[in-house]
Amino acid sequence: MLIWRLYEVFAGQDIDLDAFDATAGPDSSRRSFIIANDPYAAAKFFHFVIRAILEELLGIQVDERRHITRQLGIFGTVEAYVGTVEAQGRGTLHLHMIVWLQGGPTAHEMKEKLISSEFQATVAAYIASNIRAHHDDVTAESLESFPRERCVSYSRPLDPRIEGFQDSRKEKERQLVRAVQIHKCGRGCLKMKKGRMLCKRRAPFPLSPDAWVNSAGEWGPKRTYPFMNNWNPTILLATRSNHDCKLITNGGETKHISWYISCYAAKRQQHSSNASALLAKTIAYHKSSESHNSDLNQLNRRLVQRCANSLSREQEFSAPEVVSYLMKWDDRYISHHFETIYWTSVTSLLKKTFPALRHSR
Ligand SMILES: [Zn+2]
Repeated sequence: MLIWRLYEVFAGQDIDLDAFDATAGPDSSRRSFIIANDPYAAAKFFHFVIRAILEELLGIQVDERRHITRQLGIFGTVEAYVGTVEAQGRGTLHLHMIVWLQGGPTAHEMKEKLISSEFQATVAAYIASNIRAHHDDVTAESLESFPRERCVSYSRPLDPRIEGFQDSRKEKERQLVRAVQIHKCGRGCLKMKKGRMLCKRRAPFPLSPDAWVNSAGEWGPKRTYPFMNNWNPTILLATRSNHDCKLITNGGETKHISWYISCYAAKRQQHSSNASALLAKTIAYHKSSESHNSDLNQLNRRLVQRCANSLSREQEFSAPEVVSYLMKWDDRYISHHFETIYWTSVTSLLKKTFPALRHSR
């Protein structure tokens, strides 16, 4: 999430947001320096943007007493959400979130409803307005002729109150799609699978002349260029950053996404992005404790063993993650509050109150 000026306000810079001038500097390396130097501002900015998206775009607000208020948002009325915060290799935060809409059918009802072609058309229309992967002016040919605009996020979002907003919006969307929603396979996504290099994000993505859904709940947005990532037009315009958006139509996919999110919530062991930081103390300890040992074989065996132990025992946290914990901004977004129920005492109370239950199976 990169609305840099706002970010710089959090970092204590004296900036007039109403008189924004992207060319006035600081340049991108200065901006990276400010961010890397101030994980507090980076974390605060991230959580501010997430709250703003939830409250202003999705229309759901949870107050300190966990009371929920809802109004119509960009996807409809949001009933609930669950999301987990994760840090990328470079330490910046991002969010994975599942959103439930009010009045949405259950997985079972959805299965039945999707048989009807009328319902399929309604869902396809919903996809067409909310999940895009096509822009008339961003095609395989035009990508060659107009270059990617640099630092496109370093700006204020377009003000919907200005005259000619709709025209400006289309042009802005073109720039943003070109800059942040085109997927380019590289070291970060290509993984060896059965002897072939495959993209873990599954690019190239399937093409389709229109948004569609079938009776099995499989769906897709309109896409004519296979390296374009899904986006939501309002979120794209407001955050000016890369994001993805999916529709959950059936039990199978819900299961996959829930598994993915709970893996993050449970802090599963991630790939290490900065193993040297984790190993620094281990190596220092190894050197001091083995200074009198001249058996090279034994020395090296112990070093490997100590490093392996450290890597399986320790876990990396980026500075903005640490700040989030210290400030109690937390690593998850959950709309509802859960209370622990000790089931044994509930059943014994029920049996005491209704003795007949003791005999029933
Ligand atoms: Zn890829």
